[in-house]
Amino acid sequence: MPILEYHLIGDKDGTYSREVNHFRRDIQLLYDRGYRPITVAQLMDKKFDIPAGTSPVVFTFDDASPGQFRYIEKNGQLEIDPNSAVGIWLDFNKKHPDWKNRATFCLLPAAKAGHAFFGEKGIEGQKSEWRFKKVKFLADQGFELCNHTLWHAQLNKYPDAFVLEQIARGVMAIDSAVPGYKVRTMALPQGLWPKNRPLAWQGSWTDKKSGRTIRYAHDGVLKVAGSAAPSPFTAAFDTHSMPRVQVIGNAIEKTLDRLEATHERFVVGSAKP
Ligand SMILES: [Zn+2]
Repeated sequence: MPILEYHLIGDKDGTYSREVNHFRRDIQLLYDRGYRPITVAQLMDKKFDIPAGTSPVVFTFDDASPGQFRYIEKNGQLEIDPNSAVGIWLDFNKKHPDWKNRATFCLLPAAKAGHAFFGEKGIEGQKSEWRFKKVKFLADQGFELCNHTLWHAQLNKYPDAFVLEQIARGVMAIDSAVPGYKVRTMALPQGLWPKNRPLAWQGSWTDKKSGRTIRYAHDGVLKVAGSAAPSPFTAAFDTHSMPRVQVIGNAIEKTLDRLEATHERFVVGSAKP
């Protein structure tokens, strides 16, 4: 099953950027070829709410940039920018109700250059006070919120205490936006594992200021690269180390073509657990 990985959605294509119209085409292509979206959590739970005869695809969005979810202020009203990933997605959902609001957003609450819950401090016109509203909106619509750490530190370079703080504060920030939200998925910044690998899925950290202890237990960890993930009904599927397909060039077409050529495409209703 393909777990697609997007970063910036904007005006050009690149290793970490998808041009807006190409993003639109990606959705249309997957739809036309019989794919329907699910979240990482649904993949791990093996619970796909997609019609029999279709195939699951997972969209993941890393780094919480404004291009993924941008507001436009019009006469005091906030509108979702139709050229941001969320705007494009919701528009497609409106025209194709069987393309549901199922995607996984791997968030950064406090990284540089607007990578803070989709923008702040006027970057790309985004106000800091819109941050929690966006995160809450995504959760309310059925999208999954995923932890991508506090500010994207390279976890392999730091001692355990620092790693715990980076990961726990990612969870804490999501909880501030959506109180009680259970974060189940974590994406490793740049795919780099902490020296103590199990810290990626479980740990706790105590905030010295408040004395509050934050515990986290991620069911799943996403890597940066790889190919389509094995079916979750097979022993090869490891939730603690899930591969992703970086959407660069025609990576989606290539992946779908290969899955068909090797008869490895997963189709709901045709496979027995
Ligand atoms: Zn990232």
